[in-house]
Amino acid sequence: MRYKAAMKLDLHCHTHHSDGTQSLDWVVERAEQNAVTHLAITDHDFVTDLREIAKTANVELISGVEISCFWSNTEIHVVGLFIDTANDDLGRLLEKQRASRTARVRAMSERLVDLGVPGLMDYLDTLPAEVYTRSHVANFVVQKGLSRTRQKAFKQYLGKGGKVYEPGNWCELDQAINAIQSAGGISVLAHPGRYPLNKRKLAELVEGFASAKGDALEVRYPNIDPQMMARLESLALNTGLLLSGGSDFHDPEAHWTDVGKFPAIRGEAAKRGVHHHARWSASVG
Ligand code: AMP
Ligand code: MN
Ligand code: MN
Ligand code: MN
Repeated sequence: MRYKAAMKLDLHCHTHHSDGTQSLDWVVERAEQNAVTHLAITDHDFVTDLREIAKTANVELISGVEISCFWSNTEIHVVGLFIDTANDDLGRLLEKQRASRTARVRAMSERLVDLGVPGLMDYLDTLPAEVYTRSHVANFVVQKGLSRTRQKAFKQYLGKGGKVYEPGNWCELDQAINAIQSAGGISVLAHPGRYPLNKRKLAELVEGFASAKGDALEVRYPNIDPQMMARLESLALNTGLLLSGGSDFHDPEAHWTDVGKFPAIRGEAAKRGVHHHARWSASVG
């Protein structure tokens, strides 16, 4: 598919291979219904294979990933777009990340046993997930009646200070960027306004990301306020980063978002969109 006059991009989305609730087929169909023209599937630490569905999909599909990593001890997410699934450097890094994730849920499982609640690992085995996240553990905690909602499960059990909290064991920011680029991909700093950073620290993060040769900044995502959009755009302009955006779709029950639903990048800003990256033009046209 060539790029269309009216492009509608969604460059950040999850399936049930990570912590999304829906299959790849479902997400692609929803994108088609919502008139998305370019859709990136960006599961956590796992590259969903799009080759089969790309044969029939009526939307341009972009192979992606969302990598958890550390920057100055703060947990950061970096999205990779146009990932070559056969790349060994990235493959090794993601395998390590998934092994850490498995070890993490095992540790949580043991702590839940200590609290008198066995069965987490058996529950996880029944899921279509290729990678385990705290989101899956939250569903188990709710299912067992320990917390009333997923939010509460994070607060009471899974977040920092929670009853079975285990820290993540992730790679560093520059390793995530390098692995994505070594797999031919474009690296995007995901949802920058969601990290527990003040204004000055956020600027430092964006500058650090640009110095580490990162490519783009996610300046549009659900529930972002106009002030944050403007601040992120100006940080991108000052550091030479391109602009990206995505729904971070996980679940149709989460009514604040949907596939393709988030503020669009319009006007002058669209001229600095990530679709102007050389890698994009080479793949999509
Ligand atoms: P993990 O990467 O294993 O730490 O899991 C984090 C995932 O859980 C994120 O990608 C979100 O989808 C989800 N999540 C994180 N915090 C919350 C929260 N407070 N409430 C609901 N979901 C959350
Ligand atoms: Mn998630
Ligand atoms: Mn994220
Ligand atoms: Mn995400």
